[in-house]
Amino acid sequence: MSGAASPIRSTESVRNTIVAIDGPAGAGKSTLARHLARHFGLLNLESGAMYRAFALKALRAAVPLDESGALEHLTTETTIRLEPGDEENRVLLDGEDVTGFLRNPSVTDAASRVSVFPAIRTWMVGLQQKLGAQGGIVMEGRDIGTVVFPDAPVKIFLDAAPEVRGQRRFEQLGLSNSAYELQPGSGTPSDRPMSPAREEILRELRARDERDRNRADSPLRPAPDAVLLDSTGMTLEEAVRAAIAIVAARLAPS
Ligand code: C5P
Repeated sequence: MSGAASPIRSTESVRNTIVAIDGPAGAGKSTLARHLARHFGLLNLESGAMYRAFALKALRAAVPLDESGALEHLTTETTIRLEPGDEENRVLLDGEDVTGFLRNPSVTDAASRVSVFPAIRTWMVGLQQKLGAQGGIVMEGRDIGTVVFPDAPVKIFLDAAPEVRGQRRFEQLGLSNSAYELQPGSGTPSDRPMSPAREEILRELRARDERDRNRADSPLRPAPDAVLLDSTGMTLEEAVRAAIAIVAARLAPS
């Protein structure tokens, strides 16, 4: 990305490092992780995609999303693999490429529900630790810096105001040019009157946030040694530049 700080020298410490990015839905973690991975020559792994793939499996198998035991049993018959791609990972569920199904709203909602159960989280954390064992990765999610890789040398907690996250998600879904056009207005997204679709997206984001922040097992919160990055007033380019500076500073030889 133009204007970004120049890459720091590609030392062993950079190549083997783990960059953990956590934060709520719609904060921009995936985009940031993708840019950081490209900039530092690391592998980008989206842990949320793995929860989504398992949720898809549960939906297909008609396993009730609140039955912890049945979900746990389902994990014994499930394999999930991530294959790095240019824009996003390809996600293989039991060998099938399910990448195209994972952004479906019912899968999004189901992922948020199945991820509250400790047995599911323990299984996922094991898979994620195995994936990242060699280092050289950027992994993003909700508990990467606190649980999956508590010793990661670089941790970023990316946040943004809920209205801004809702607006970004709205634009990401390509709704702003559709029948759900924003109602006329000016100023920041939070000043504008909200169309029904935006309201719905914001409601869904808040519900997921609440579940993620309030679950008993691995609630969403910044690791004590995470650098907080609030991207509320930032463009994508500014957020990427700030994140590159954070990673470079953490990895610079002291
Ligand atoms: O990041 P993404 O929105 O794809 O994640 C989908 C859902 O999976 C989240 O709403 C969250 O509940 C869950 N998740 C999690 N821990 C992670 C990644 C995702 O609980 N490390």
